Amino acid sequence: AGAASLALTLTACGQSGSGGSKEETGSSKGGTIGIAMPTKSSERWIADGNNVVKNLESKGYKTKLVYGEDDPDQQVSQIENLITQGVKALIVAAIDNKSLNNVLQQAADAHIPVIAYDRLILGTKNVDYYASFDNTKVGELQANYIVDKLGLASGKGPFNIELFAGSNDDNNTKYFFNGAMSVLQPYIDSKKLVVQSGQTGLTQVTTLRWDGATAQKRMDDILTKSYSSKKVDAVLSPYDGISIGILSALKSDDYGSKAKPLPVLTGQDAELASVKSIIAGEQTQTVYKDTRELAKVASNMVDAVLNGKKPETNDTKTYDNGAKVIPAYLLQPVSVDKTNYQSVLVDGGYYTADELK
Ligand code: BGC
Repeated sequence: AGAASLALTLTACGQSGSGGSKEETGSSKGGTIGIAMPTKSSERWIADGNNVVKNLESKGYKTKLVYGEDDPDQQVSQIENLITQGVKALIVAAIDNKSLNNVLQQAADAHIPVIAYDRLILGTKNVDYYASFDNTKVGELQANYIVDKLGLASGKGPFNIELFAGSNDDNNTKYFFNGAMSVLQPYIDSKKLVVQSGQTGLTQVTTLRWDGATAQKRMDDILTKSYSSKKVDAVLSPYDGISIGILSALKSDDYGSKAKPLPVLTGQDAELASVKSIIAGEQTQTVYKDTRELAKVASNMVDAVLNGKKPETNDTKTYDNGAKVIPAYLLQPVSVDKTNYQSVLVDGGYYTADELK
């Protein structure tokens, strides 16, 4: 109690000069916020976790940050622990979008508000707000990039394409894929794009837990079965880790040589290895999502809710989780390739020029 009141006093002092209302100096300041992230195996989530912590601390909160190693059960017990430890609010990037209903009921019973972070949590009304990117747009950017690169809009073709999607337990997966297919399907219908493997349905092309090795194996199989005498011209990949796996499969089949140029290969997250690969002319594109901005949005949501205010949202109709429509704030993703990585990623301060060497 001593520490809590000290934190309160400090917060109140800090705000008195800036004209903070009584409400803003309320008892929520100095409380602890629980942050549950999915995995450390991908850089983006490490950046997300660090950025959320930084934002919340700058607002006077303490934080507890946990990573679930891509194991849904582990994430559930981590969130249970956070609730037991008395966190004031939860920020959750779900591993399995349907596995959290019981634990979020526990959160609701303890009056702990929940922000779904990046990935929507399904099937429970115990989600207060959703902070994410325009996930449909992510897929559209990837597909439009392929269309432009191949020159499809100006009538070129036919070309061979293969399709990859993310994890089937991640709600974003279908938004990315449907966004991409809204652009690609007309070309598939007109046979300007041909999927030689025949695998075009979402359930045929998902990649459990976004695992690069799983994608590599699937690409290996496809190349063996469907491309012994053909060449693949484009691969829709939803995530950089998957793109790197696909690239390995392509390279072991001699793609990247003079006779067999690499296909157009998309991605997502602007992870370091992929940006370097883009600079080296291997992966072609990625979709950059500024995790600093997402962390800010989620932290502001927590701060508003805990102070009895309404967080800023810009989408109140798209994200129906089956139990209710979750008010969302969606940020804009940006397509990045060799031509603009410097201005977007380096000038934008996401990476230093040295990191990309
Ligand atoms: C995120 C993507 C990420 C993927 C794999 C998705 O939910 O929105 O940015 O590439 O998970 O981690």
